[in-house]
Amino acid sequence: MKLSQRVSNLKGSVTLALAASAKEMAASGRDVINMAVGEPDFDAPRRAREAGIAAINSGAVKYTPAAGLNSLRQAVADHLRETRGVAYGVENVVICHSAKHALSHTLLALVDPGDEVLLLDPAWSSYHAQVELVGGVAVHVPPKQDGTCAPDLEAIRAAVTERTGGLMFNSPSNPSGYVWSRSEIEELAAICEEHDLWMISDEIYGRLVFDDAEHVSPTSISEAMKERTILVDGASKVFAMTGYRMGYLAANADVARTVGDLQSQISGCPNYISQRAFEACLIEEPEEVKDMIATFDRRRRVVIEGLDRMGLKGPQPKGAFYAFPDLHHRFDERGSSGFCADLLEAEALATVPGTAFSAPRHIRLSYALSEDRLVEALDRLERFLSDRP
Ligand code: PMP
Ligand code: GLU
Repeated sequence: MKLSQRVSNLKGSVTLALAASAKEMAASGRDVINMAVGEPDFDAPRRAREAGIAAINSGAVKYTPAAGLNSLRQAVADHLRETRGVAYGVENVVICHSAKHALSHTLLALVDPGDEVLLLDPAWSSYHAQVELVGGVAVHVPPKQDGTCAPDLEAIRAAVTERTGGLMFNSPSNPSGYVWSRSEIEELAAICEEHDLWMISDEIYGRLVFDDAEHVSPTSISEAMKERTILVDGASKVFAMTGYRMGYLAANADVARTVGDLQSQISGCPNYISQRAFEACLIEEPEEVKDMIATFDRRRRVVIEGLDRMGLKGPQPKGAFYAFPDLHHRFDERGSSGFCADLLEAEALATVPGTAFSAPRHIRLSYALSEDRLVEALDRLERFLSDRP
């Protein structure tokens, strides 16, 4: 059967595929440590589970408005006021089936065929695929070349052309753990203002910032920047609710209405049960959240120490739950993919090659694992490096 032009270059998510093969390998009896998938290992909070069960037991699991329950949209608006200090109303919020869905529906609403969209490398792999799926041209902008993965604002400015519609922004970053400073965001905002660009700000790791890092939403820089920003967030990371598939966007009312209409035609309303579970967590933060964040921070320190011990360089992870060491000096001609494949085979340690994020010198390690398993994972990596010629 002839497939559409649109999917002719499409590849499935590398991170999800690697996670699936690690699970298969574990099912076949190997003691696999999965540092590939970016998924919190905690159970969903008790409040979420209870609200989900209550929703099912009510019997009334029905369609909601396509843009989500009004009460949940209001809860999101209140949450954004508290956490970002910006004022949104129900009309600015759309509840989606996931942050992925919020991102792809937003791109569908904003990008015309041939429009260029800037991706600030290293960038999460789904951005490239999603931009291409809607007919856009993904333009990758490399970071500073000093190994920190810090943004190169001059390179971003230089990448803007007449065809540039906007850019995808993600801080804290998956995969590098880099957290943009307020002044870097102000400079980026100035570029958007100067060239009339929109910005999709993927803030899914916004609560996971450590040390002296601060999460700054571009929406809080100025009223003008809030107007041109589409803020995306969801339940997957901070509430460990990946399987509930809950995300949202907040934007100016035109964009929000359009995405709501798109959603009404493409997928209909998001899952009612998950909406209720998410709402319960937004109305009152689950008691588990602070512990989860503190636990991630402890794990982060274990990973930093382990990588330091091995003498590995890379960006200092200050947010999200990834480390992104530069291992290119240990790659053979197959690059980061070959390295990760050999590591999986030899030590049953699953990681993601940096090529998935347009950063071929690196590999990504997710530290969403218990401290015991992390220590074991780092030992395996160290042994692999010392055995490898
Ligand atoms: N953005 C980034 C940067 C992510 O790492 C993820 C995790 N897969 C998502 C968006 C999507 O999250 P979800 O679809 O689970 O809401
Ligand atoms: N965000 C996660 C990751 O990067 C989940 C995988 C995905 O959704 O592609 O590993």
